[in-house]
Amino acid sequence: EGERLYLGLDFGTSGARFAIIDRDGTVQAEAKREYPLYLSGELHDWVRSWKETLFSLLEDVPLDLRKHVVSISIDGTSATTIIVDSYTGEPLWRPFLYNESCSDALPLVKSIAPPNHTVCTGSSTLCKLVSWWNLVGSDKKPALLLHQADWLLWLLHGKLGVTDYNNALKVGYDPEVDSYPSWLVCQPYYHLLPSVLAPGTPIACLKDEIVNKYGFQKDCVVCTGTTDSIAAFLAARASQPGKAVTSLGSTLAIKLLSNTRIEDSRFGVYSHRLDDKWLVGGASNTGGAILRQLFTDDQLQKLSEQINPSQTSLLDYYPLPKAGERFPVADPNLAPRIHPRPENDVEYLHGILESIARIEAKAYGLLKELGASQVEEVFTAGGGAKNENWIKIRERVLGLPVSRANQTEAAYGAALLAKKGDQQNIF
Ligand code: ADP
Repeated sequence: EGERLYLGLDFGTSGARFAIIDRDGTVQAEAKREYPLYLSGELHDWVRSWKETLFSLLEDVPLDLRKHVVSISIDGTSATTIIVDSYTGEPLWRPFLYNESCSDALPLVKSIAPPNHTVCTGSSTLCKLVSWWNLVGSDKKPALLLHQADWLLWLLHGKLGVTDYNNALKVGYDPEVDSYPSWLVCQPYYHLLPSVLAPGTPIACLKDEIVNKYGFQKDCVVCTGTTDSIAAFLAARASQPGKAVTSLGSTLAIKLLSNTRIEDSRFGVYSHRLDDKWLVGGASNTGGAILRQLFTDDQLQKLSEQINPSQTSLLDYYPLPKAGERFPVADPNLAPRIHPRPENDVEYLHGILESIARIEAKAYGLLKELGASQVEEVFTAGGGAKNENWIKIRERVLGLPVSRANQTEAAYGAALLAKKGDQQNIF
């Protein structure tokens, strides 16, 4: 009866998931939903699609578990922005998607923000806000800006105008001093910005109507969330400084928990706050995309099994799907180097995988040079994580323990935030 369960929901780029964990972090239930397609005119009605998905996922939660859920949190795609009516919470405009660029706002944003600030890119939340502000002109209803996760959480708790400092980074929030910077406070749209809490902070109780309709617990709290990629990092439970997660998906993305904050726009390196630590990240264009150009997944698996990972490959490549690299080498014209190709495919793949491992080592080395904590252990996520010989090659090249992360689902990370919120529940 006294069982306490935590519900995390992830709204990613291709679909949404939930995970329910118990106090030990064991998964009690999980499920996935695709986003249903709703058209409004020619456009995809995303807001309706996300809302339906949220409530479908709540229905997917096994009935017998619902009454034990004491806390809920949600992660969403970073910089997905919804402008809502500040009285009703209803969207005033179609949402701006995470990857949408509002470069029309860029000159203005660049003129107010410090040079190279993270808002100085067309897809930043601030560019989206400024673009909307200029478009709508003087005929504005009282409005509020919310991120995707904030809006979905609002559907559950009903208290408007709250976000977390991870989602708020790309609108210009300064997580180091815990406030919006003065250059933002003096702008005419400042009053649209939500108030900011740490991820995993209780906002309010789950709405009565939802408690009653679905059979959740009456005292269930709803907590602030985070972005989908941070939630995926949290899932790996790399919670000490020096622990890192390498994602081997289409690209190679690294995230390192550090005691110090690092920003370097040349390399696209920036930091998110996680309580009293910093999550430092960077992404290289090498990774699975180029592997897929050279081999099928089936070939990758069979050839990899034949590699002797303790042997050093002398083949020196810089595998890229096309010219251009940002991190750990900042060179927009860097040419892919995947030749000469030996006749033996095992030997070739060995050289490619080892070269990618050297890029990974260089990436962690660069973070250290820029002032981050020394990496001590690497967990692996993404399609490349299942390649055990690659993991052994990477251990040798990095000189560090490397393993596959036990959990990589962002929904699991969101459930951990819900658990964190339960520990500081003051309601
Ligand atoms: P994303 O979500 O970024 O598209 P995934 O995490 O799904 O990527 O990973 C897909 C990538 O994993 C593909 O680009 C593929 O090249 C790579 N991959 C698949 N199988 C293997 C394997 N056995 N070894 C190394 N890489 C693999």
